[in-house]
Amino acid sequence: MPVLSIVVPCYNEEETIHPFLEATQKVEKDMANQLSFEYIFVNDGSKDKTLEVLREVADRYPKVHYISFSRNFGKEAGLLAGLEAATGDFITVMDADLQDPPELLPNMYQKIQEGYDVVGTRRTDRKGEPPIRSFFAKLFYKLINTVSDTEMVDGARDFRLMTRQVVDSILSLEEVNRFSKGIFSWVGFDVTYIEFENRERVAGESSWNFFSLLRYSIDGFVNFSDMPLSIATWIGTLSFVFSCLAILFIVIRKLIWNDPVSGWASTVSIILFIGGIQLLCLGIIGKYIAKIFTETKKRPVYIVKEKR
Ligand code: UDP
Ligand code: MG
Repeated sequence: MPVLSIVVPCYNEEETIHPFLEATQKVEKDMANQLSFEYIFVNDGSKDKTLEVLREVADRYPKVHYISFSRNFGKEAGLLAGLEAATGDFITVMDADLQDPPELLPNMYQKIQEGYDVVGTRRTDRKGEPPIRSFFAKLFYKLINTVSDTEMVDGARDFRLMTRQVVDSILSLEEVNRFSKGIFSWVGFDVTYIEFENRERVAGESSWNFFSLLRYSIDGFVNFSDMPLSIATWIGTLSFVFSCLAILFIVIRKLIWNDPVSGWASTVSIILFIGGIQLLCLGIIGKYIAKIFTETKKRPVYIVKEKR
């Protein structure tokens, strides 16, 4: 019987692992005649009792495995570790907080059998989410889809069912800066989406705040587009053209009217303006250099302390 690996990154999820397993094992029973399940939990340096809970469930259920990191490496690292450890013919990634409904799995598997390589899930609304977060999320998808060649679907979750071939392709990307939303889409294959209404987490709280999401979205841009660099070039070119015109104007004014030097205010504004643009462009270039830097160091994406 084909094996389905379920990869679950966990950060401070002591309260959600039991409800998650319960809900998923119900689906496992329903699908017992088609698939055999394997669970891979990744404890991403949780500060609560997540590891103890994982040890306990791994003792109880032979199909449950876990990998525990030496510290918090971030969800991307957890996803990578889980996908690398998964042995299944089909692999799915799920959040531990039940925001990814396991009841969709039979439907998703059905679509795989119809010939799709990837069945993703999309939430059609963002009910229960702070409006400001939804606003910036929408803005992010609009912007990144205009500047990046890799399409990122608004509302698409990391919850997706993939064939072994797709996962192997994802793992063949050796980059250290991993932006999974982009990587999942970049590898291609035949993808379809199942839609569902947003769920709130069963327990615990989201580990993302405004600034971590902002950093995450900047990562998305730097990893999947070089448009910011082109924008810097364009700003530079425009301000160069503009300054040539200004010089011409000043020279002509001097020749015709012999105007004496006047106005330090305008001079200071111009210096500040140009200085600001230069710093902005340097900052953009700096972001890319920082990525090259972390990429060339070739540090491992995560370090495992314990696994079973
Ligand atoms: N997560 C993780 N490492 C982190 C942050 C989050 O493994 O540093 C996991 C978390 O345990 C959950 C999933 O990533 O299973 C999604 O996190 P969360 O629910 O906090 O995000 P949200 O649903 O609010 O986007
Ligand atoms: Mg969540």
